[in-house]
Order: sequence, then structure tokens, then C-alpha cells
Amino acid sequence: MILSQAREYVIDRLKQAGISGPSIESDLLLCKVLGCDRSWLIAHKERPIFDYELQYLNALLERRCNKEPLAYIFNEAQFYGRNFYVGEGVLVPRPETESLVEIVLSLVDEGIVVDWGTGSGCIVISLLLENPKFRGIALDVNPKALYWAWKNVDKYDLFDRLILWHESGKLPAQFAKSGVDAVVSNPPYIPTNLVDTLMSEVKCFEPISALDGGNDGTLWYRFLFEKASLWLKEGGWLIVETGGWKEKEILSLAPDRFSLCEMKKLSGGVCVIAWRL
Ligand code: GLN
Repeated sequence: MILSQAREYVIDRLKQAGISGPSIESDLLLCKVLGCDRSWLIAHKERPIFDYELQYLNALLERRCNKEPLAYIFNEAQFYGRNFYVGEGVLVPRPETESLVEIVLSLVDEGIVVDWGTGSGCIVISLLLENPKFRGIALDVNPKALYWAWKNVDKYDLFDRLILWHESGKLPAQFAKSGVDAVVSNPPYIPTNLVDTLMSEVKCFEPISALDGGNDGTLWYRFLFEKASLWLKEGGWLIVETGGWKEKEILSLAPDRFSLCEMKKLSGGVCVIAWRL
């Protein structure tokens, strides 16, 4: 079999499995197997594919046809122009979450940023890399998520500026006293009864705890208002992503002490909201 035939074979199998965008995914899988980029692939259509490569390709293909996210298969996802390690047990960073990072960068100049439910750490790590005046505390209760976050903190050599904290409702004691400058979060916001309606890639592989936002999807916003009230210094920021066209409801939950500073609506009912104490 030569590469052009392998490409057709992969496209066919992906199509049969109902994967959208089979041509692109076929190229990505072949690039992974051959350790090359797309232009090399296109320029070497006649190259034979060896048995050991075909075996590896089939193993990856099997997983993808089972609807496992490509990011899990590659253990890699792109976010804010960088690569992050991801895999079983952590939410794959979503492109819309980049707007949350942009808004934090535009509103907050310096200080300590808490990333609640850090997952892979993509939000806080991007913030620290973009602004050297930030330090971070990344909270997550899921040890698997912290494993991936740890790998990413290590990858970007941020251990001297970022604390990974296996907690949901408590900060390390020294910060609990002095307060922090911003709390940012992309919390779980899918209402419990809708989790089952998500596409297989999401509901069968990504952690439910990273998606389920309680009965009406607002559970973690209530929690964040309560915690941010305790954690933030006067003048501190709470900046969150919301989804499911829930922004009005979430705005109405904000205690009086929080004044609304910015709200950016994105596609698909996603929205970023920023308040200041
Ligand atoms: N903060 C991580 C992200 O945005 C994880 C969010 C989550 O698990 N809900 O990708």
C-alpha cells in the first residue's frame, strides 16, 4: 500500500464511523504515524507504507472510530497558540475559552490569579506565559486533571510562579489571608439532564465532573460567587465563561458587591463575563 491509498483507506473508515471532516483527520493521523507534516505527506503520495506503520495507524484509527477525541489519541491539544498535554480525565481545551484568556489579559494587569477547575491548566498557564506579572494558583479536585496540569506546568517551566492545589473550596493558607487579584474559571455548566445529549466524543470520554453544572447549570457559578467574595482583595476580578445561553440567569445571581464590567457573547450560547469587587 502507498500513502495515497492509505489516505483513502483512512478516509473511508472514518466516514463509515460517522466522523465529520474525515480528510483532515486522515492527514492528521497519517502525520502522527509517519512523524511528518502535511506538506511532506502531500509531496510523498507514492511512498510505500510499511507494516509496522500500518499497524500503528490501525490502532489509532480503531480508537478514533470509537469516537475517542483526537486530542486524547495524540495526548495534545492546541490552546492560545501553544500545545498542551491532555488525555483521559481532563477536559479538552475549547477554542471559545481563548476569549476568556483575552478578556483577563485586557482587564487585569498583575497579581495572583486563581484558576478554579483548572483541568489541563490551559487558562492559567496561558495567562502566566502572556503576562510575566502574573502568578497563579490552579485548583482542581480531580487528581487526573492535576496530573495533566502538572505535565503542562513542567513543560512551560512555571513551577516557580504557579501552585497546583488539590482543592475546590480552599486556597493555600498564605493566600487565604492576603487575598488574590483575580478568580478566573471555565466551570462545568451543562445542566445535568442535558449531559446525556452531548455528542459521544464528549459524553463517553471527557470527565462528567468537568461538564455537569447541576440541575440548572448554575451550581458552580453560585459556588464561585461565594468563594470569590472570600478570596478576592477589594478591587479584585471574577471572570468566567458561561454557556447554554444562561448569562442572564448568572448575572442575576451576582451579589451586589460585584459590579459588572464586561460581557462578551460568543457563538453557540457561550459568553464571558467579568465583574469587579
Ligand atoms: N479550565 C479547563 C478548561 O477550560 C477545564 C474546565 C473544566 O473542566 N470545566 O479547559
